[in-house]
Amino acid sequence: MSVETQKETLGFQTEVKQLLHLMIHSLYSNKEIFLRELISNASDAVDKLRFEALSKPELLEGGAELKIRVSFDKDAQTVTLEDNGIGMSREDVITHLGTIAKSGTADFMKNLSGDQKKDSHLIGQFGVGFYSAFIVADQVDVFSRRAGLPASEGVHWSSKGEGDFEVATLEKADRGTRIVLHLKKGEDEFADGYRLRNIIKKYSDHIALPIELPKEQVAVEGEPAPVQEWETVNRASALWTRPRTEVKDEEYQEFYKHIAHDFENPLAWSHNKVEGKLEYNSLLYVPARAPFDLYQREAPRGLKLYVQRVFVMDQAESFLPLYLRFIKGVVDSNDLSLNVSREILQKDPIIDSMKSALTKRVLDMLEKLAKNQPEEYKGFWKNFGQVMKEGPAEDFANKEKIAGLLRFASTSDESGEQSVSLAEYLARGKEGQDKIYYLTGESYAQVKNSPHLEVFRKKGIEVLLLTDRIDEWLMSYLSDFDGKGFVDVARGDLDLGKLDSEEDKKAQEEVAKDKEGLIERLKTALGDAVSEVRVSHRLTDSPAILAIGEQDLGLQMRQILEASGQKVPDSKPIFEFNPTHPLIGKLDNEQSEDRFGELSHILFDQAALAAGDSLKDPAAYVRRLNKLLVELSA
Ligand code: ADP
Repeated sequence: MSVETQKETLGFQTEVKQLLHLMIHSLYSNKEIFLRELISNASDAVDKLRFEALSKPELLEGGAELKIRVSFDKDAQTVTLEDNGIGMSREDVITHLGTIAKSGTADFMKNLSGDQKKDSHLIGQFGVGFYSAFIVADQVDVFSRRAGLPASEGVHWSSKGEGDFEVATLEKADRGTRIVLHLKKGEDEFADGYRLRNIIKKYSDHIALPIELPKEQVAVEGEPAPVQEWETVNRASALWTRPRTEVKDEEYQEFYKHIAHDFENPLAWSHNKVEGKLEYNSLLYVPARAPFDLYQREAPRGLKLYVQRVFVMDQAESFLPLYLRFIKGVVDSNDLSLNVSREILQKDPIIDSMKSALTKRVLDMLEKLAKNQPEEYKGFWKNFGQVMKEGPAEDFANKEKIAGLLRFASTSDESGEQSVSLAEYLARGKEGQDKIYYLTGESYAQVKNSPHLEVFRKKGIEVLLLTDRIDEWLMSYLSDFDGKGFVDVARGDLDLGKLDSEEDKKAQEEVAKDKEGLIERLKTALGDAVSEVRVSHRLTDSPAILAIGEQDLGLQMRQILEASGQKVPDSKPIFEFNPTHPLIGKLDNEQSEDRFGELSHILFDQAALAAGDSLKDPAAYVRRLNKLLVELSA
């Protein structure tokens, strides 16, 4: 044992302390995963070494046989993992094993509920990695040396998983990392070859480099102890290079957990080998749950890139569009150069064609999921629907395909869930219906009872109800689906086309003529507040409604712009009234222009409220209404 120098004790970052605490208390039911996590790290470390050694072969220091060894000591109650990967320097150890570098971690921690069952899910998505060692160990010692550093610059990190850790510099002859777990009382089952072998087979069979365990050897009395021999216990070949038919579902699932740092199985995957002008293998996964940082701009995203089986980089973003940032996976190219960089990836035309092919793979995989596993697709939509809605704006070429994957709430489904596809909507449309009708608004409760839906209810026409903040913006990028145009039912002069009979249309024209006098009076009374006054074909029960001009911004977009401090172009609504409503009849007969004015303003304000808008002068509305109430009760 060499002498340790420069010993210091350092505190864990707050988030690490929280993570350690939570992990120990919420992952107790699946303790064995610690081994998977540590093997996963060791495998990454070997990948990194292999890559760096391409340009600096001296990093291999003569020891080119890359592997992971797992051993145990029943007497000392320890399990040891050793890899000859890239290793860590003293600084590496302090940052990597003392802090969490993921953006948004503090926010994530705040969101934990304290409910262990729920939190164990969340923490699974977050990925606990190295710190999972403390699920089974009450002391962890890490001995490491970064490849390329002299033997004298090894480092020893040690912690009991509480508030702090110790680091010291020491001599380490071989590069790489050795992790010694001192098992907690009651965890002695892990200091056992049979148990370790089973765990490795179960979770880490797909790891592409050999994982070795000590071979059982019988000591013969009187003979010197035999030299320790090792045997490989995993398959040790890159999973994505194997033929699809030979890979079991469980293997695909475990591989996903390794690359995605997720504890849950994926919802779906797509494994492909492409040959011809371009040659590559890809294995793409749809996670079951949204990661905590799905909406963080700087959050890492992208695929793991290999070039001819050699790991080149994590989070290669250039292979998929932003709206598919939740997809995890591997792409292994035969065409790219091993020293490809992020900058090159952004410009390389090879990448462009791979990107469009991979995007199509993902969309096909989602289509298949929607078709064959509708329940799972519902779950997918809940988690990732909002992100998919970014698609039409970003990916013009696949607009129609993405539109087919969208799901909406609708007047035909009381549950209020986003579950109706456009294809379904069209399939059950009315005879002669050549439009897709929709209404946007702030919440399902608000749009569900909107007066804009009255005529649609009466005629039994389905309307899609769009209440995500992004919806109005989304619809500005969608003009049609399957040749049928989209119509915002709150916008313009509603034309139901063939859904209105000739008689209906004639009757409407006659009413409009008949009410010309009333229209003029209302225009005078409402003045600047409206752009137009007209008879409505939208209403059956309500007296009046406000429609948005064909080219004007809707309420949602206006609110988004206002919230972001931008100037919103001025636009005035169209006031439409229902000529058959008794209140309108009363208004028409009102002789006093003064009272006519008051009543018109009340109707206008009510229509604004029903549309989910706020009043410009709420006090005036209350005053007018109260005046009316007093007169009524007088
Ligand atoms: P993650 O693997 O998700 O980044 P971990 O907490 O598991 O998070 O590990 C933190 C970092 O510590 C890794 O990113 C890596 O840089 C370093 N590390 C962990 N284990 C090893 C190892 N065996 N060899 C080299 N570096 C390692």
